[in-house]
Amino acid sequence: MSGEQHEEATDQRCIELVELLTAYLDDALTDDIRTQFEEHLEGCAGCQAALAQWRTVAGLAGRLSAEDVANLDPYVRDRLMATLVIPRRR
Ligand SMILES: [Zn+2]
Repeated sequence: MSGEQHEEATDQRCIELVELLTAYLDDALTDDIRTQFEEHLEGCAGCQAALAQWRTVAGLAGRLSAEDVANLDPYVRDRLMATLVIPRRR
């Protein structure tokens, strides 16, 4: 890959934010983090889509099946699975 650092940095940012999605939906973020989150969302179609799908997933809480996951966009599914396997770090 002769990749651009910028894209890589953006992607990393998205991953971090997606990890915050559940807290965001639970209204558990501090104002500070929430503001950063929403600012990023405004400029990032990928994260907007992820949030929309996450709302759907959250609505299915408790009855999320492998089939539901399979119906998600690949982008969201990737992030979702990444979130699920990442252990708590604090
Ligand atoms: Zn993003």
